[in-house]
Amino acid sequence: MSTLSHQLNLPSYLDANKLGAWDMYLQQVERVTPYLGTLARWVDTLKRPKRMLIVDVPIHLDDGSIAHFEGYRVQHNLSRGPGKGGVRFHQDVTLSEVMALSAWMSVKNAAVNVPFGGAKGGIRLNPHHYSKGELERITRRYTSEIGIIIGPSKDIPAPDVNTNEQVMAWMMDTYSMNQGGTATGVVTGKPVDLGGSLGRREATGRGVFTVGVEAAQHMGLSIQGARLAVQGLGNVGGTAAKLFGEAGALLIAAQDHGGAVLKDTGLDIPALLAHVAAHGTVADFAGGDPIDPDNFWDVNCDILIPAALEGQITADNANRIQAKLILEGANGPTTPQADDILGDKGVVIVPDVIANAGGVTVSYFEWVQDFSSFFWSEDEINARLVRIMREAFDTVWQTAKTQGTTLRTATFIVACTRILNAREQRGLYP
Ligand code: NAD
Repeated sequence: MSTLSHQLNLPSYLDANKLGAWDMYLQQVERVTPYLGTLARWVDTLKRPKRMLIVDVPIHLDDGSIAHFEGYRVQHNLSRGPGKGGVRFHQDVTLSEVMALSAWMSVKNAAVNVPFGGAKGGIRLNPHHYSKGELERITRRYTSEIGIIIGPSKDIPAPDVNTNEQVMAWMMDTYSMNQGGTATGVVTGKPVDLGGSLGRREATGRGVFTVGVEAAQHMGLSIQGARLAVQGLGNVGGTAAKLFGEAGALLIAAQDHGGAVLKDTGLDIPALLAHVAAHGTVADFAGGDPIDPDNFWDVNCDILIPAALEGQITADNANRIQAKLILEGANGPTTPQADDILGDKGVVIVPDVIANAGGVTVSYFEWVQDFSSFFWSEDEINARLVRIMREAFDTVWQTAKTQGTTLRTATFIVACTRILNAREQRGLYP
């Protein structure tokens, strides 16, 4: 198997069979390179994470035995500011996946022009197999281990898949205990009582909705009555579904790790979200018909929101997708091959690096509020979020038009130009 990662001679400990996401990212960088002008001489900067830390996370389990977990923190690029990116708890987390996620954070932060570089972390474990006490000990030991590279002006973690406000509270407390003083700005996505920001929990889904409305307007697609399909009704997909529903869209189908449901006249979104909150999955929701999860991709819809994991829309299912507009709530849900197939079909894809940037935008607001110890109202936060998302989307849309590219390549043009400009202006040390 020859991949871009192999050609670049990346470290031998990367599992050759699990390079998917990182290889996807490298292909995206290859596609943007011809548009970077003289900055292209710096492009290898984007192909090599600046710093990667692998840590052993040993804890006492509840039964007294000792278990070891593997944790990662990758700082992909710090040219524009401190690292910023979530921490994922998942049994499939690998170093190469975290590398890709950290790189997409560099691009995303530059796309919405917040003053951060890109970073990401993860622990390889299935959190559903551990008690709350065990998860707290895992989180605290992991935080302590990566404590040498994180900090309010160095690298600021946040929630991602299977991590939440409670995990952020433990991380903030652990870092603070080691520093000898409360450092609220070390993580974002904290509980509001601990320096968190109003509006953060819904921010990513709200951003997906905001760029979705903008894209639909450009396409002449009405949200009122639009048929919507969502994969993953978690934080991102659930909020986006709720806001689209409130704007008059019909949620026709939803799929997650447990199953898939369909209702041609529109699912009752609040009832479905209450079912997911109670049972953790859309499976067995009485208000819709169960379908084979794979048939979700065939559903007759106008707007599709993948909001689960990466690599979901592939060359195998792209041809079956009927949506006119895809809003990437998840990171890396579409492979480059699927991108091409969908592009040929005329499907508009608003890529992850802009579509789901609402979360990090409000994380930026949270970080600013923590530094100034002055907290804003939710209306103020939502208004600022919508303004930043609209402006960023508009820049990307215009770039795609003038350069004749997809929205993904246009976002990479805008973002990589900002990153590499910063790199060039800072110069190399020594
Ligand atoms: P979450 O844990 O709240 O929800 C994840 C959803 O994915 C759940 O509905 C789960 O059932 C579903 N899922 C998991 N495995 C699946 C599988 N194999 N097949 C189908 N569905 C599956 O996570 P989240 O915070 O909503 O994150 C979802 C995606 O959005 C991730 O890719 C994440 O990186 C990205 N993202 C999240 C944020 C944020 O602020 N939370 C910001 C930017 C990007």
